[in-house]
Amino acid sequence: MNHNINTSYVLDIHTHTLASGHAYGTLREMAQAAAAAGLSVLGISEHGPGTPGTCDPLYFLNLNVVPERLCGVRLLHGCEINVRNDGRLWLDQRYLERLDYGIVGIHGICYENAGKRKNTENLISCMRNEKIRFVSHPDDGNMPLDYELLVPAAKEYHVALEVNNNSLLRADRLDCLQNYQTMLTLCDRLRVSVIVSSDAHDPSSVGRFDKARQLLRQMDFDEELILNTSAEKLLAHLK
Ligand SMILES: [Zn+2]
Ligand SMILES: [Zn+2]
Repeated sequence: MNHNINTSYVLDIHTHTLASGHAYGTLREMAQAAAAAGLSVLGISEHGPGTPGTCDPLYFLNLNVVPERLCGVRLLHGCEINVRNDGRLWLDQRYLERLDYGIVGIHGICYENAGKRKNTENLISCMRNEKIRFVSHPDDGNMPLDYELLVPAAKEYHVALEVNNNSLLRADRLDCLQNYQTMLTLCDRLRVSVIVSSDAHDPSSVGRFDKARQLLRQMDFDEELILNTSAEKLLAHLK
């Protein structure tokens, strides 16, 4: 059975604006691009502390000044929070509390590879925080992960695992495609939700899902488990 025919994706929850320090669009330009891409929900998820040049966490406390909708697109606010080598989240809870969701991810610029087992344990210990709803790009063989541990933990803590379109376009993430095949096979078997993200650092990439969709289609991955197909499904996951 082909699960994955022509359903459209209506949301992108992992994107960065100028505030992340190495991204190039304003919030309004990102919203405009989301509207042009036919999205109904746009999540902005600036990098958290640890990433050089990103915003001060004070940024996350003032987001209530931003309209709930821009260009007809509903905005959600998150943060892509770094994992520390001691297995803690690199953002204080008082900031995290103010956000719609946290994404946790390992970034080589501020994390030292501790080997497959320890990397996975560090990530899982961050996933226990109830504001963490997603794991970003769990795909890079340079920071190896044990999917036999990660996927059951995602199920236990109700965290969706990301298929990052940008990773699939890049050459520097080791064994990315094979790692996603391993991860997605387990997600399908254990009924774990996934989220497809552009990880856009420029308005031109908002809602770009081509490589990820191609992979999911090739694997005949069950669309029920993909959170991008309806805003209601996403909001239920965030609760
Ligand atoms: Zn970035
Ligand atoms: Zn990232």
